[in-house]
Amino acid sequence: MLIDGHNRVVNYLRVSVTERCNFRCQYCMPDKPFSWVPKENLLSLDELFLFIKAAMDEGITKVRITGGEPLLREGLDRFISMIYNHNPEVDLALTTNGYLLKQTAEKLKNAGLKRLNISLDSLRPEVAQKIAQKDVLKDVLAGIEEALRVGLKVKVNMVPLKGINDDEIVDILDFCKDRGIEVRFIEYMENSVANTTIKGLLGKEILEKIKEKYMIRKVGREGSSPSFSYLLEDGYKFGLIDPHKHDFCETCNRIRLTAEGYLIPCLYFDEAMSIKEAVQAGDIPKAVEVLKTVLRDKPKENRWRVEGNETSSRAFYETGG
Ligand code: SAM
Ligand code: SF4
Repeated sequence: MLIDGHNRVVNYLRVSVTERCNFRCQYCMPDKPFSWVPKENLLSLDELFLFIKAAMDEGITKVRITGGEPLLREGLDRFISMIYNHNPEVDLALTTNGYLLKQTAEKLKNAGLKRLNISLDSLRPEVAQKIAQKDVLKDVLAGIEEALRVGLKVKVNMVPLKGINDDEIVDILDFCKDRGIEVRFIEYMENSVANTTIKGLLGKEILEKIKEKYMIRKVGREGSSPSFSYLLEDGYKFGLIDPHKHDFCETCNRIRLTAEGYLIPCLYFDEAMSIKEAVQAGDIPKAVEVLKTVLRDKPKENRWRVEGNETSSRAFYETGG
């Protein structure tokens, strides 16, 4: 079992397989970075797997593949099948913008993927285009339908932004409700890479919009999930991720690995340690030692407070959000 310096059990590894992306979301990667990390600096998927396998043997039971846009990384289905074959019980999930899902969902499912989170910020083509800075909606919707068709368990993520898509919170909720998909509203997390003109809605503002149409009932957090669940009267469940409250830090169970081999203990902070040298030297026990050091020093909580103007200096596309 992996336990951090604040006595929290860590069983969830989020792996960013690429920082590259085919969208330019205003809250994440509004401009193409000055340069991408050169391909030769990345760990290969086989190297990433060696570490993931060891981490699973140490107590990781849940692996989420993310990015950047993970579907841009070649060989992803083989990577998923390696993780699945090491332990078919692993809770194996992926977060994607959905753009390439129509072509890939079936392969991913056959490789052993169980769950998908798909980002959907608008149902209006022009608003989706404004946020992603590309005409994306048709393909994302086709991707969602295909994922459902092949039997993947789907959740939708929406980041409500003031004056941009905050009038669509209920529409997205209804879209998901009609398809039996859980939606999670995520508070915009301020970071220095994002477009400086955008403003997010706080959790309570998101709930106010939903209450204009529905009666809602608080349920609570499921386990260590950062998402707080609510129920509508008809039993439909949706989630809210509100890091500005940071009360979910108390039960944080996660650690992040980047495509370059950095282990990141908390999204908010700059701290990170590399496992790259150890993995590339074939010294997996050394990489596990690095993991344990990072866990020992994992911060107690993030700093996205409501009153302060706290801003993380880390780009979400590097860490996988
Ligand atoms: N490209 C994939 C996608 O968009 O789903 C995976 C990576 S993305 C960084 C993972 C999640 O982080 C997405 O749901 C996205 O909406 C969310 N995200 C990115 N930047 C964010 C920010 N500044 N605040 C809140 N959520 C953010
Ligand atoms: Fe790309 Fe996802 Fe970031 Fe949007 S949120 S720019 S899709 S990594």
